[in-house]
Amino acid sequence: MKSLDTSLQYLKGIGPKRAAVFKDAGISTLEDLLYFFPRRYEDRRNVLPISKVKEGEAVVLKAKILAKRFKQSWYRSRFSILELIVGDDTGKIPVVWFNQPYLKDYFKVGSSIILYGKVRRHDLYLQMVSPEFEIADEKEDESLDVGKIVPVYPVIEGVSQRYLRRLINSVLKQCLPFIKDTLPFDIRQRQKLLNLAKSLIGIHFPDNLDLQKDAYRRLAFEEFFLFIIPIVLRKLKKRKKAGLVHSLQGDLVRKFEASLPFQLTNAQRRVIEEIKQDMARASAMQRLLQGDVGSGKTIVATYAAIIAIQSGYQVAFMAPTEILAKQHYEKISSQFALVSPELKKIKIGLLSSSLKQKEKAAIVQNIKNGKINLVIGTHALLEEAVQFKNLGLVIIDEQHKFGVAQRALLPQKGNNPDTLIMTATPIPRTLAITLYGDLDISIINELPPGRKPIATFWVKEGQRKKIYKFIQEKVGEGRQVYIVYPIIRESLVLDLKAAEDMYKEFKKNVFKDFRLGLVHGQMNEEGQDKTMSEFKNGKIDILISTTVLEVGIDVPGATVMVIEHAERFGLSQLHQLRGRIGRGSEESFCMLVSNPVTEEAKARIEVMTKTCDGFRIAEEDLKLRGPGEFFGDRQHGLSELRIANPLTQMQLLRIARNEAMKLTQADPQLKNRQNQGIKEALRKKFPGYEELEIVG
Ligand code: ADP
Ligand code: MG
Repeated sequence: MKSLDTSLQYLKGIGPKRAAVFKDAGISTLEDLLYFFPRRYEDRRNVLPISKVKEGEAVVLKAKILAKRFKQSWYRSRFSILELIVGDDTGKIPVVWFNQPYLKDYFKVGSSIILYGKVRRHDLYLQMVSPEFEIADEKEDESLDVGKIVPVYPVIEGVSQRYLRRLINSVLKQCLPFIKDTLPFDIRQRQKLLNLAKSLIGIHFPDNLDLQKDAYRRLAFEEFFLFIIPIVLRKLKKRKKAGLVHSLQGDLVRKFEASLPFQLTNAQRRVIEEIKQDMARASAMQRLLQGDVGSGKTIVATYAAIIAIQSGYQVAFMAPTEILAKQHYEKISSQFALVSPELKKIKIGLLSSSLKQKEKAAIVQNIKNGKINLVIGTHALLEEAVQFKNLGLVIIDEQHKFGVAQRALLPQKGNNPDTLIMTATPIPRTLAITLYGDLDISIINELPPGRKPIATFWVKEGQRKKIYKFIQEKVGEGRQVYIVYPIIRESLVLDLKAAEDMYKEFKKNVFKDFRLGLVHGQMNEEGQDKTMSEFKNGKIDILISTTVLEVGIDVPGATVMVIEHAERFGLSQLHQLRGRIGRGSEESFCMLVSNPVTEEAKARIEVMTKTCDGFRIAEEDLKLRGPGEFFGDRQHGLSELRIANPLTQMQLLRIARNEAMKLTQADPQLKNRQNQGIKEALRKKFPGYEELEIVG
């Protein structure tokens, strides 16, 4: 055995079959095996005198075998019982194993044995059933299964824990001489991290829990560290490229600021300041703006747009849906129109796929020749035909609706323009700077004044009549209502209420006196748009819909939302949906209709009734789903984290990030001798990472 890269197959006792089983579990080399970490531990250190044994407890016993009896069933050939009577100075206890006839010759009367297992009552006496065991007088200190803190590994089909412990122990012993440390000495010293060899021993076979903790910390650090380096390198690389310089002073900016119909919140002011600094710098802005629904991100984006336009550049503003693009377009246009002749001169274009060929061609033409200063649009902006004269700022709204690759396309239409990306799914800062590590982060953590929290209730299915009555009352008072369903049509597979069917039903019965509207994702954009506009203009009282509502539509008069089968929606999704109401000065109400299904679904609904704070909700969502699922497949790499947990180890994550920044700034190509371990680990972990290294 020469290196950790040696294939498992070359180990004694591992044939092709076993090797295949391990491979399925992601373990091909010795290194993989050493990095196959325990799921938990069992503390089997304290040997109990037999007289102290109690029913139902898992205990460790050290005793002598006093008698042995083996019974084979005569009517069921596979059925057998092996019974030992074991005793120490304080008492005796029977121990049984079922259907393991091969054990019968293993135990010899008179020898000492260590047992770990649960004590059960059998008739009138206590006994141990199928405990783990170790013959004590053979190599006592070699014991791996009892009398120690014992690792319990994730299950690999067909491989016993006992076998795994032995295998890992033996590999660990053989490999110790050539385990090189990945982390440079100075980082280890600064952060008080164990060396790698000690950590691997400590994570698998800790003598005490403190050692396990230290080992875990070191290995989690390493995992974070290696995960972050490529991200940090990517950021450094982007920084190096020359960008545009925008000028912050000028009439437009001043006029715009003076024209705002409200005071900016402190958070908005702070974020605008951050953006200004970015835009005035020569390197391109790469900023993520996080803010809850309704926190006022659009004004901030508009501010940035004005700066760019004033500096003579074009701005592209991309939204995930047609409706949203149009809403932004209308809002910004009317804002500019009201204000001053200077702002009025800014040419704004709306580009969407539903435009007629001719209209579209005209807009594309005007983007190209620079007549349009600000173009707002959907992903239609990404089409090849769309060329800019001098794109200086890219704004992307609701970034989670676009893939990473899609997001990167728009800036490529300019010469390294500034980029502002907005999201209404805020996550804790430490997590954000890691996951979106190549972006700088701004947070709006404050809602405009005067917003009332949305009163949110969990309603059981049986209480629907009450909801309908409440809706009738509210519509009577002139309010508007959303009713959201998880599906469009009833299906045979899912026993769920559906938007279209309920719309028809409502029309005939409960709400026949009201004006109803229906939107869902299978309608064409034009149809959706028409209904939404009618709702917005107060021509519809009750809008029945699916989750197409999720992003951004702004109807201040709507104050009631009913979400049916609320258990079918994710937490962040519920929060986004709820964000459609509570936008005016009237009190708003959200009713989540659901009969409890799973504990997790219950937990989600309960969180919703307790808070309206998007940060808290995102955090809870993350906890419930785990980061891998929370970010979906758009954020790769997270599922690679095996033991490090970005949620519970944020402090360690922060330290790892700081160290990664320090290291990559000092040695961006990882040339130094002490960084070779890292380099090698990165090569293995992230093939192709070297492209990120900064040359020169
Ligand atoms: P977001 O995009 O973050 O969900 P918007 O930018 O759409 O939020 O803002 C939500 C509403 O709040 C809009 O009607 C907007 O005009 C208003 N608004 C934004 N900032 C303020 C503020 N500082 N004071 C009062 N109202 C504001
Ligand atoms: Mg928005």
